[in-house]
Amino acid sequence: MTIKQRLELIQAEIKHACNKVDRDASEVKIIAVTKYVSSETTKATLDCGLIHIGENRVEGAIEKWEAFNERGIWHFIGSLQTRKAKKIINKYEYLHSLDRLSLAEEVDKRLEQGVMKCFVQVNVSGEESKAGVDPEDLLPFINELAQYKKIQVIGLMTMAPFYEDPEMTRPVFRKLRELRTEIQDLKLEHAPCTELSMGMSNDYIVAVEEGATFIRLGSALVGRE
Ligand SMILES: *Cc1c(COP(=O)(O)O)cnc(C)c1O
Repeated sequence: MTIKQRLELIQAEIKHACNKVDRDASEVKIIAVTKYVSSETTKATLDCGLIHIGENRVEGAIEKWEAFNERGIWHFIGSLQTRKAKKIINKYEYLHSLDRLSLAEEVDKRLEQGVMKCFVQVNVSGEESKAGVDPEDLLPFINELAQYKKIQVIGLMTMAPFYEDPEMTRPVFRKLRELRTEIQDLKLEHAPCTELSMGMSNDYIVAVEEGATFIRLGSALVGRE
């Protein structure tokens, strides 16, 4: 199957999931995660009209950005070491993995103009292997971020554990939505927190039903090489 064909199937699934829960499908943006594929395939992805591109490693992120930067909107979705962050800041518009103050401080120091649109990554499932702040630390963490003027907390991000049955991920996504709404209701100037980055190839349908506004799709959309 081509990327275009996969995209059409995925869009139909998104529409169906949105109808089920009375959402408008235009609220759901697809981030094409190109970490498993070449620059050539990334070009084919852009040629399909997908503009949100996600990368999780600094090396691949820079390679793709250098090749196609004017054509895309760039999302850094993986863990980011503070000492490597300067390579991403001023190139990537969105950061999905803000999980500590030292990283916020680095962004604040290095960003030359505007704000960086950040998702605070939350470890909802509590798996040790997963990054992200604990749900009970979320509000204090977000309050601390107010001191960094170039950080804008546009939403929350999580990764669900892998389950054969995607339905099992539902409580994780639901919890992230509840946390999002809690923060959003505070109407903090630095943290409008309207967005939810959740759902990957195996569980995006459940994530959309639970309110995802950005889904991050790698293997199911652009494949693996
Ligand atoms: C790799 C990755 C994805 C996409 O994974 P697929 O299962 O291939 O869709 C999404 N989010 C993050 C943070 C990733 O690292």
